[in-house]
Amino acid sequence: MVPAITKIDIYKLSIPLAIPYGTSLGLFDHADNIIIKIHSSEGLYGVGEGCPGTSVTGDSQAMDFEAAQLLGTLIMGKNPLAVEARMKEIDSFLVHNSTIRSAFDIALYDLLAKKAGLPLYALLGGEKRTLQTDMTVGLASPEKMAQQALKYVEQGFLSIKVKLGTNFDDDVARIRAIRETIGEKTLIRIDANQGWDQVTAIRILQALVPFSIQFCEEPVAHWNNRALKYVHEHSPIAIMSDESLFDHHDAYRLASMEVCDYFNIKLAKSGGIHTALKINAVAESAGIKCMIGSMDETNLAMSAAAHLVSAFPNIEFADLDAALFLAEDPVIGGVTYEGGKITLTDTPGHGADFDSEYLKTLESISITQKGDF
Ligand code: MG
Repeated sequence: MVPAITKIDIYKLSIPLAIPYGTSLGLFDHADNIIIKIHSSEGLYGVGEGCPGTSVTGDSQAMDFEAAQLLGTLIMGKNPLAVEARMKEIDSFLVHNSTIRSAFDIALYDLLAKKAGLPLYALLGGEKRTLQTDMTVGLASPEKMAQQALKYVEQGFLSIKVKLGTNFDDDVARIRAIRETIGEKTLIRIDANQGWDQVTAIRILQALVPFSIQFCEEPVAHWNNRALKYVHEHSPIAIMSDESLFDHHDAYRLASMEVCDYFNIKLAKSGGIHTALKINAVAESAGIKCMIGSMDETNLAMSAAAHLVSAFPNIEFADLDAALFLAEDPVIGGVTYEGGKITLTDTPGHGADFDSEYLKTLESISITQKGDF
């Protein structure tokens, strides 16, 4: 008998960041996320999470709470195991708003993997790999950023990601201070978050060559593919698309235009795992390696993302440090961190959950009725 979705619980989860961080898009000091719990007629449930990065994805917790009720009504009573079919309905019904679509996608994959009795990486056909995440250093003075970077190196992170994107003098001073403080061994990735124009980007990237930079994320405005192509053609440092890449259509366009070396996939941008798989397929076709990044999610969304990285060797890099920034992480189970080393669980699904008593303390709504869509 085909199972059916019987109930969907929607929660608002808000947690301050223990380590607020600055970027050229503004200060991030709070995680205002949405949790989705999808119940099936077989007595199983799957849990998903989305963190709206408003300046990137254009949505907010309040918007996602409303949208989740529409999406919950849309798929109520239908087969939760047909993930591609359910996500096609969701993606057709609601354009943009990728964060909330992602929360549904993660919950559906969690449910499917639990039904199969497999950890998510195995459901996706992959092997269990030990992953290494970088740790992000937010925008601040060169001295403060250098001390922060040193702390992370001492904690065992093999790579750090440095937020830049202001101006030539300050950005070069930041990297010089960090490299002089942490030494030569640790990898440094940089992220301008669209903060430069194409001329400034090339000046800065050329000046950073002596400091051995692994790659640079989103140097110019996300919409400016022409400028990105110019930067890519003239940069001595590899370029990674982040805010310019949401879905597989973007991936095809960016790969066709030859504007970058790497893709940064985030589930909150792609609308979940189903589209992340399509982005990675386009990337692999074009010879482009991927990273999976994060917004400000808890260990739950980080676990789903880590399983995805583990399953696909073309996803070479992990930027899954979000959960480490939270003042508290109420998740039970999920991946464990040891410095930058991430270890996956073999529990069916993504392996992460919330205590039901904890969830009762959150603002929530439950959907049980099928809608007229
Ligand atoms: Mg980025």
